[in-house]
Amino acid sequence: MSLAPASETLADLRVDGARLWQSLMDLARIGGTEKGGVCRLALTDLDRQGRDLFVSWVEDAGCEVRVDAIGNIFARRPGRNNALPAVMTGSHIDTQPTGGKFDGNYGVLAGLEVLRTLNDADVQTEAPLELAVWTNEEGSRFVPVMMGSGVYAGAFTLAHALDQQDREGVSVRDALAAIGYDGKEAVPPARPDGVGAYFEAHIEQGPVLEAADTVIGVVTGALGQRWYDVVLTGVEAHAGPTPMPLRRDALLAASDLVRAVNDIALAHAPDARGTVGWMDVFPNSRNVIPGRVRMTVDLRAADDATLTAMDAALRAAADAAAQAGGVTVQVEQVVYFAPQPFAPGLVQAVREGARDLSLSAMNVVSGAGHDAVYLARVAPTAMIFVPCKDGISHNEIEDARPDHLEAGCNVLLRAMLAQAGIAR
Ligand SMILES: [Zn+2]
Repeated sequence: MSLAPASETLADLRVDGARLWQSLMDLARIGGTEKGGVCRLALTDLDRQGRDLFVSWVEDAGCEVRVDAIGNIFARRPGRNNALPAVMTGSHIDTQPTGGKFDGNYGVLAGLEVLRTLNDADVQTEAPLELAVWTNEEGSRFVPVMMGSGVYAGAFTLAHALDQQDREGVSVRDALAAIGYDGKEAVPPARPDGVGAYFEAHIEQGPVLEAADTVIGVVTGALGQRWYDVVLTGVEAHAGPTPMPLRRDALLAASDLVRAVNDIALAHAPDARGTVGWMDVFPNSRNVIPGRVRMTVDLRAADDATLTAMDAALRAAADAAAQAGGVTVQVEQVVYFAPQPFAPGLVQAVREGARDLSLSAMNVVSGAGHDAVYLARVAPTAMIFVPCKDGISHNEIEDARPDHLEAGCNVLLRAMLAQAGIAR
């Protein structure tokens, strides 16, 4: 038995990186693909097998397990004072059809490794700890994406989520019952104690950390998003007899707008994004001047003032393209997600965790959606990013280094302990 004071002992506490890696590989076998990826769609029998394995692991770790009515799983490790709000971590274990081993799974199994490490060191926290698996984050089989965390945070209702159907007409309600994860717990939860803090570790899914040769991404928040449907209407005409000055070419005007979207994002570097990802050209015939183009625009920025300025610039560019091309342009916003800054105190806890472990770290923003973005609406929240190879994700070749995954897990351990407090 060590006579060192608790704080000194805990400064040396580290997760078992090899055990974390083994857990990732064991879970990845369920739905594993020939190319080394994972296909484990939400609420399929493979998802059930993955959930069952997770539940057996957390029960072995001494946790109490609850499942709520949208199938979110909560594993609780009691603290000394269980009236305190829980310090929670988690992510998702559903994947894309051609998904990888790490997206989501890392956040869940990093949380598991934190609990196992505390068990091994016989550390009791002051506040209880909880590890969550959120249902259907990917949105591949059922929309909306981030379904379990969205219901939990009140972004949409439980009934709305349960009514959604996949392409075969199977509802979320029936799929949950079929795999035995239609839990009894109310959602949103009627827990008076609430969640004191939520941390989520995740692979970056982008190239920034790797390019900067940095191990820990201190995520300061998630980008806000505005999605648009745009319709440009000109006049179809024969490509031969119609002289250039007399044309009203909808695709030419669309080209101006595609370029403008790129320039608008560049004008708000480095965090802003602008993308035209889909386009439909009518009549799409070799020798007809295009009479109509439908296209999408996706604008993202870290704060609302920037997003509003980008919206105004997009509408001005649409007017300019209409005037120059002799066409009409309709711009309709169809989706809005507010920028979601994370809790400064928890972001600082992540930063200090990296510093105490002498790990390279930098501030980053999340360009993608995560369960943490919904959790941030109901609890103080922060995320920890680690690099993934070539920034590639949602792909069977998705890869990450064991030492980076271990480092992010150690940061998670420290950040959670700092919030939960040590009883012994
Ligand atoms: Zn994910």
